[in-house]
Amino acid sequence: MPITRDLIREIRAMDHYDLRRLQMLIRGLLLEDPPPAESSGKVSFRQEMVRCGKDGCTKCPHGPYWYAYWREGGRTRSRYVGKELPGQKAE
Ligand SMILES: [Zn+2]
Repeated sequence: MPITRDLIREIRAMDHYDLRRLQMLIRGLLLEDPPPAESSGKVSFRQEMVRCGKDGCTKCPHGPYWYAYWREGGRTRSRYVGKELPGQKAE
């Protein structure tokens, strides 16, 4: 869906309560959705915080760590890269 002028106008008209709800919604969507990896063969990199899943861990979430994302057979695949992005400066 394109971000239309109408949509922007509606968001601008929202009060703080609605804006906070919208912010929470968007944050949730960003966490759930796979990151954009437009075309196959194209790899994009993203930093993420990771939960180790260990009981009693007080340092969760860990990171940020770099992950590589790419499209393969219509699916988004990901692979752990590490704390540093090799050959590239962190954004
Ligand atoms: Zn942990």
